[in-house]
Amino acid sequence: MSKEVVVLGAGMVGICTAVHLRKNGYDVTVIDHSTPGAGTSYGNAGVIQREAVEPYAFPRQIQSLIRVGLKRDAAVNYHLSALPSYASPLFKYWKNSEPKSHQAISKDYAALISVALDEHKVLIAEAQAEDLIIKGGMVHAYRTEQALQQGIAHAEHVKQRYGVESEVISPQQFNVLEPNLKANHPIIGAVHWTQPWSVNEPSELVQRYAQLLQDLGGRIIQAEILALQQQPFSWKVCTNTGDFDVAEVVIALGPWSSKFISALGYENPILIKRGYHQHFTDGAIIHRPIFDAERGYVLAPMKRGTRLTTGAEFAHFSAPATPVQLEKTQQAAYDWLDLGQALDEPAWLGGRPCSVDMKPYIGAAPRHKGLWFNFGHGHQGFTLGPASGRLLAEIMIDQVRLLPDEKIFSPQRMMV
Ligand SMILES: Cc1cc2nc3c(=O)[nH]c(=O)nc-3n(C[C@H](O)[C@H](O)[C@H](O)COP(=O)(O)OP(=O)(O)OC[C@H]3O[C@@H](n4cnc5c(N)ncnc54)[C@H](O)[C@@H]3O)c2cc1C
Repeated sequence: MSKEVVVLGAGMVGICTAVHLRKNGYDVTVIDHSTPGAGTSYGNAGVIQREAVEPYAFPRQIQSLIRVGLKRDAAVNYHLSALPSYASPLFKYWKNSEPKSHQAISKDYAALISVALDEHKVLIAEAQAEDLIIKGGMVHAYRTEQALQQGIAHAEHVKQRYGVESEVISPQQFNVLEPNLKANHPIIGAVHWTQPWSVNEPSELVQRYAQLLQDLGGRIIQAEILALQQQPFSWKVCTNTGDFDVAEVVIALGPWSSKFISALGYENPILIKRGYHQHFTDGAIIHRPIFDAERGYVLAPMKRGTRLTTGAEFAHFSAPATPVQLEKTQQAAYDWLDLGQALDEPAWLGGRPCSVDMKPYIGAAPRHKGLWFNFGHGHQGFTLGPASGRLLAEIMIDQVRLLPDEKIFSPQRMMV
């Protein structure tokens, strides 16, 4: 008889975990109150980030910290009222951003994200989702010589250390890649990361993977998860449509994982970095995601037009939206692209579920048998979903082949 598992959350991470568990013989049910891919996995920039081998460090130079503090940098915003609750996790994140710690974390992180694109390729083929994919890489564009030189040095560093491929391009070469830029745009040079793929509607890719899961015999149930209770030999998942008794449960609730983890007595391991998006139509078309590195936003081509996604906002997850970064970055984007008109829709707001050591939690819950974690994928969960789903499934059947050492993502580190 196959083992039963319930996966909580139908985002990129939950659905990919379910697919891999099903492939390994589990009887799988996914529960989510929305359709698959309607949470954080809906609103991102859609980049399958082969280039992001080093997770985002918190700035450590005093000038950068002052700019953040004074809200001069459009990449970061914060609510003063949220700072007390952010103080402790942010301090840990800041300490982990110290160059030596960050290099050690990056080595672990790179092990997983380096295989993530290949894992997507397998699922994209199986889910027949090629029509959603753009294979033009990603461009990091620079406006000043100093920033360009830093960008080039970083590209060289990750090429040497992790084999990430890129080309430094002149403004003229950028114009060839992107013929619809404004004349006399302020970009003085760029790094073209040639490996990343991107997706023209991120939620649709999750839905295709969800269809693959169902074709393989998995189930998806739409219900609000209310509580998770440990029984003597099983788990009870309480929902608004009924309870599920099951031997094993995976928590893959992205930024909402904290609520259920805290209820089980774990210290909240998640730091949320909120982010916004807005679509623009009837403007100039771009052919790949472009990161305006000195203004801290990404423009990405989507089915509904160009999607502008913002950097990080430190605020209570449920606090009202304050899309000031969208306003600032929109102006910056008009410097080099005729964006067109903002679609008549409210700005989308979501939360990146970040851990203080920048690595996702993938593995057994430290204190609860039959409970598994797969959350905390921060800035790159859309990329990491298939790889971390496969890793968790292999951990659960005790046959890890994806990585030489799966313990680097173990939730045990929550306990220190
Ligand atoms: C602006 C922005 C841009 C980004 N760009 C990129 C990018 O280009 N590339 C990249 O790799 N990553 C990107 N990310 C990060 C990425 O989007 C996230 O890391 C990823 O989507 C997290 O996936 P997840 O499955 O863990 O969470 P989610 O997609 O949020 O899934 C969690 C699910 O849990 C469900 N849920 C929550 N509570 C309940 C409940 N009580 N009952 C039932 N269901 C519940 C939700 O409906 C949701 O579907 C970006 C993030 C942001 C905010």
